[in-house]
Amino acid sequence: MRVAIASEAGWTLGGWLRARHIDWDFPAPTLPKVAGPSYNRRLCVCRKVLITPKNRASQQRPTVRLFQYCPYCATQLSDRLVEGKLRRSCPQCRFIQFPDPKVAVVALVHALGRVLLVRRGVEPARGGWALPGGYLDAGELPHEALVREVQEESGLTASAGRLLEILPMIGNHAGLVMVYQATVILGSDGRLPEPVSADDADGAGWFAAGEIPRPVAFPSTELMLQRWQAGHFD
Ligand SMILES: [Zn+2]
Repeated sequence: MRVAIASEAGWTLGGWLRARHIDWDFPAPTLPKVAGPSYNRRLCVCRKVLITPKNRASQQRPTVRLFQYCPYCATQLSDRLVEGKLRRSCPQCRFIQFPDPKVAVVALVHALGRVLLVRRGVEPARGGWALPGGYLDAGELPHEALVREVQEESGLTASAGRLLEILPMIGNHAGLVMVYQATVILGSDGRLPEPVSADDADGAGWFAAGEIPRPVAFPSTELMLQRWQAGHFD
């Protein structure tokens, strides 16, 4: 998936965000010039919270697996200079491999002083508690993916609200996590609907601020829970 960068004022840029730019220590002049000051401030916050000595190495050099053969016509690829960068390119059909970021959405679903968390049943972070979410499918809009993922992992029907944050994905491949606020309809008795875990989750529940289960799956989960506990999203 290729992702265009925009400022909060609207679409301002004709460039694309590529995997090499999901390095949270990319040169400072690159992004402000391209994305505008508001996005830059957001990235600075992310860097402060999410870069630790432990994950610094993987963040500085996202693992990108390069193709040896063209995925369309099976011709052996070669390196070609494209817009000043060496890219794996097909001499037969002109395919070029751009190492684009993966994009995921997660939902901060909260009501009656509790937040919805799911326990991951698969790697990465198996056994850790996370906000429900997952990868976008091609052609899917973020809020559509959000509703689908919440349904798959918790059995609950959610409505996507505002975009809260865009964070770097920690792991072997570069990516972005879009965090949305989301709501669910309360039961007729005014209580929270009972989640039923499935798909990538093997546990699900509603948790009050002082009862967050451990371990928490990802730095991005931790960051968003801290902000929720501090009352940022009320
Ligand atoms: Zn080809």
